[in-house]
Amino acid sequence: MAFRIAAQWLHSCAGCEMAILDTGSRLLSLLDGIELVHMPLLVDNKYHAPDRPPEEADIPPADLGLVSGGVANREQLELLQAMRRRCSFLVGLGTCASHGGIPAMINSWPLAEGLAATYENIESGTPPAAGSIPAPLDRVYAVDEKVNIDLLLPGCPPDPEQIHQVLTTLAAGTRPPARTGSVCDRCPTRRHSMADRPQVRRFVEAAAFDPDRPVAAMPCLLEQGLLCMGPVTAGGCEHHGAPACIGARAPCRGCYGPVAGQGNQMVAMMNILASHGLDFRSVVDRRAMLRFAGAHGLLRPVKPK
Ligand code: SF4
Ligand code: SF4
Ligand code: SF4
Repeated sequence: MAFRIAAQWLHSCAGCEMAILDTGSRLLSLLDGIELVHMPLLVDNKYHAPDRPPEEADIPPADLGLVSGGVANREQLELLQAMRRRCSFLVGLGTCASHGGIPAMINSWPLAEGLAATYENIESGTPPAAGSIPAPLDRVYAVDEKVNIDLLLPGCPPDPEQIHQVLTTLAAGTRPPARTGSVCDRCPTRRHSMADRPQVRRFVEAAAFDPDRPVAAMPCLLEQGLLCMGPVTAGGCEHHGAPACIGARAPCRGCYGPVAGQGNQMVAMMNILASHGLDFRSVVDRRAMLRFAGAHGLLRPVKPK
């Protein structure tokens, strides 16, 4: 019998689903052994009638469930719970599912302020009628804050190579190997130990490198004073021998989330800056270091002074 896979998006931009499709021709060969029983991006199976509550969503039973996106409203929560009930093994796909991702940045503001900015104080269009949007939760949650998750596969989006590995190993009845280590652990740049200046430079400032030489000849971006989140970010985005952004001579912005489980990238990064002789007080917006991982209660509204 074919290995049945269900995929459901929640508070998602569809980039994670595109990453599944980006496994390319390997997905086609994988389709010989799997059955894609549910995936709203690809399969229109009328699983969720607008006049029925989301908990009655007709999601077929599956051996493996993939949920992308965080949980921001009641409907997404009930779809997540339906996926947990229907899927034997549930994977949180992408950084939004694993750590809240970019949408969880709204956790920095009171809910009423976020709703007003999104739906009321808008310059074009008509605000939605009361009751026409799903009831928001008090903040954006990662999926493992709401249901038991068997495996988290972060990345914004996750690497198609890793998605393929997870699908093939689970379909073969084994568990994928645990991923360990940081972006720095996989970075070939030249390192000494200390930054050459105390002020932290912004992501957008240009790094010093010789475009005619390989990335391994480039001095570490953090040691150049740039805010490179590689030390506190989970590895896994390598392409052609270097983490994706480092290969493009740009600092890591932290999109795979913290190295360890629910770690706090902002606190960890301030320690790293200090240990490199950089003044963390010169970072323009410290909370932006949690731009990909603000769920798990890490980003909260600032109390008025
Ligand atoms: S992790 Fe990135 S690609 Fe995936 S849903 Fe979130 S924003 Fe989109
Ligand atoms: S801080 Fe950035 S540039 Fe330096 S080793 Fe780590 S990932 Fe590479
Ligand atoms: S280098 Fe950092 S920001 Fe860039 S893809 Fe890798 S984890 Fe994401």
